[in-house]
Amino acid sequence: MTAPSPRVQRRKIGDFTVHVIQAGGQRLDGGAMFGVVPKPLWEKRIPADERNRIQLGMRCLLIDHPSGLILIDSGAGNKENEKFKDIYGIENEGADGATMLEDGLKEIGVVPSDISLVINTHLHFDHAGGNTRTRDDGSLEITFPNATYIVRRGEYDYAMHSNERTAASYFERNYVPLEAADKLEFIAREKTIVKGIRAIPTPGHTPFHQSVLIESAGERAFYLGDLVPTHAHLPLPWIMGYDVEPLVTLETKRRILKQALDEKWLVIFEHDATVAWGRVEHDGKTYKLSSESA
Ligand SMILES: [Zn+2]
Repeated sequence: MTAPSPRVQRRKIGDFTVHVIQAGGQRLDGGAMFGVVPKPLWEKRIPADERNRIQLGMRCLLIDHPSGLILIDSGAGNKENEKFKDIYGIENEGADGATMLEDGLKEIGVVPSDISLVINTHLHFDHAGGNTRTRDDGSLEITFPNATYIVRRGEYDYAMHSNERTAASYFERNYVPLEAADKLEFIAREKTIVKGIRAIPTPGHTPFHQSVLIESAGERAFYLGDLVPTHAHLPLPWIMGYDVEPLVTLETKRRILKQALDEKWLVIFEHDATVAWGRVEHDGKTYKLSSESA
């Protein structure tokens, strides 16, 4: 398997131009990705490799907003070693030694210092790993030096007090340097970040996970984060084994997907290797991706 493509896809959401940037590939255990769903069911949707892993992506969203460029999530970054990358099947190296995220930004004509806001759905390494990066000399720097990084206060505290179950996903080098440099803005609850961009709590994957609702000129799009990581996770009980509160995820999905259906949101999938976005339909039994073009 090779890292998912295309690297960049563009569209309009109302008056906003947005780009999804595929920040690399990741392969995680298929059983862990689908929780209680038996393999004969999930492997029909996403096949497993010889190590029982499924191909995933790490799709970030760049919003060209009148107030400045906004990036949602930052991929896995460049700080992890080869052994780590092999275990998680991470393929995100850029063409010139940076990351695929930075390559994608370059393709759009953006350099990291152009980004004015970074919103993290949560602080797991595959969502916040690109917040900071190592330079050639091994020292650490803030990847987006002119950006304010927006994180939920509860998520930061949760990351700083990890336990035996959660520690494998939280690395302080991805967020403590931001706090030290006074680059973090903490939010507590649902909040309009700038006009048309609203952070919405979507707990379950982590207790303080958030998603982002984008609204412009009557159109709505929703960056799901890890609430529904791929389109295969649209059925309500298809919930990751990684979630710390799976029954909370269930209720969050029930609420959000109903709204997505009723209001015809464009939903954006962060970890889907092939499907960047789509609309939701309910066939009387289950939620699924609408066959109509998004
Ligand atoms: Zn994730």
